Amino acid sequence: MFLTGKRAAITGSTSGIGLAIARALHEQGAQVVLSGFGDDAMIASLCDEMGATHVGTDLSQRDGVEAFMHAAGEVDILVNNAGMQHVSPVEEFPPEKWDSILALNLTAAFDTARKAVPHMKRAGWGRIINVASAHSLTASPFKAAYVAAKHGLDGLTKTLALELATFNITANCISPAYVWTPLVENQIPDTMKARNMTRDQVIEDVMLERQPTKKFVHPADIGAMAVFLCREEAANMTGSNITVDGGWTAQ
Ligand code: NAD
Repeated sequence: MFLTGKRAAITGSTSGIGLAIARALHEQGAQVVLSGFGDDAMIASLCDEMGATHVGTDLSQRDGVEAFMHAAGEVDILVNNAGMQHVSPVEEFPPEKWDSILALNLTAAFDTARKAVPHMKRAGWGRIINVASAHSLTASPFKAAYVAAKHGLDGLTKTLALELATFNITANCISPAYVWTPLVENQIPDTMKARNMTRDQVIEDVMLERQPTKKFVHPADIGAMAVFLCREEAANMTGSNITVDGGWTAQ
């Protein structure tokens, strides 16, 4: 329970990786602020489970990010996890999808960080954890906006690390390859269409083809890494981009 007394805001934490991170931080005693969409009863049950609060604003809008950070209060641990994907050849890629992916996957992390840092500096301690992707280090076809946003998130993280290095505030990326979550499941139909493949072909020949372990990463693996980054033993890890990718980026 080494995080007792710390407050953690995790964006996109009603599902998938964000939820696993929220649970892992809660298990170590952190007071958790949840974000994201979903059914009211499901969200109420998550709040009960973790004694958490939930702020369900749209983080692809600057107003929504500001309202989230205002409601979250003085945050010691900031996890930028909310993200979305769209799969399409570049010439058919809807510009409005580009805008919303860049807004949620990249710009929201800048806005949450600029709101969180003043308290972290006053407190003399802080952790910024950005859930990037193997696609922050490498690319795949048909994911122009996602790959660009995640590469940008890596750059933002390094900049924050340098600016905050003497304030006992670290900033790191965790970069998974395919983790079995609704985000992955939901991109199967579009990938089937873009590549003219069956569902099994998309799973075996696209998703796991580049994942040398041939296994999906578990959301809880990312939660455990987030907990490690909050430990004192991780105080000298900053500006890192930590892959949890089954060997994807080793190729
Ligand atoms: P998910 O779809 O399971 O969960 C996404 C969360 O973000 C949900 O809580 C959702 O309600 C919330 N969200 C979506 N749009 C939002 C918005 N506009 N405002 C506020 N909240 C919003 O996704 P996931 O797979 O858990 O992905 C989480 C993060 O991990 C994303 O940044 C994603 O890019 C990254 N990632 C995922 C994988 C993977 O294979 N699943 C791999 C690499 C990186």
